Amino acid sequence: MQSICPSWKVRLLTLPIIIAVAAWFFVKPVRVILPEAAGVSCLSASVCVDDAARFREANELYAEGLAFVTPLLESIHGRPRVIFCASRACADSFGLGARSAVTLATFGTVIGPGAWKPYYVRHELIHYLQAERLGTLGLLFKPEWFVEGMAYGLSQDPRAPLAEPFESHRRRFLAWHAALVKQTVWQAAEGL
Ligand SMILES: [Zn+2]
Repeated sequence: MQSICPSWKVRLLTLPIIIAVAAWFFVKPVRVILPEAAGVSCLSASVCVDDAARFREANELYAEGLAFVTPLLESIHGRPRVIFCASRACADSFGLGARSAVTLATFGTVIGPGAWKPYYVRHELIHYLQAERLGTLGLLFKPEWFVEGMAYGLSQDPRAPLAEPFESHRRRFLAWHAALVKQTVWQAAEGL
């Protein structure tokens, strides 16, 4: 049997490193995995900030979000990590772009400077729970009305109407959710 020549072995071994470095620079949301390396301070196991003076505020939003979401959707098994960016530069370093906030599966959430509000944090914690309960891959195959409709509907987002298609997604999810009798939302989601 012919062995792979050493230079190919080296290339194969270094490929994951090259991909990881490229993702760090070009797919910036992956920085939630190592937020300290992206320049924010994680002042607790779950809450990171770019402005230490606003840590208390961030911590309160995080605690409120968890306390709100948990009884609605059963307990969270993991400990979601949330990065609160007070500055645009921080949000940009995580590639937030036009988004107010983003959740990268169960790896972490970034809250942008305009999203320090209870309903935004709840919305992102709901996305975390979706990834935890349905799996990152499973979530990719769920319909958008379910994924976004749940996050907008159960976070009690006060904006009405939301920009489309989110208003329709929210209405559709809330009607589906209200019709559940014996199944939990996660059991019913398996059939979607
Ligand atoms: Zn969302």
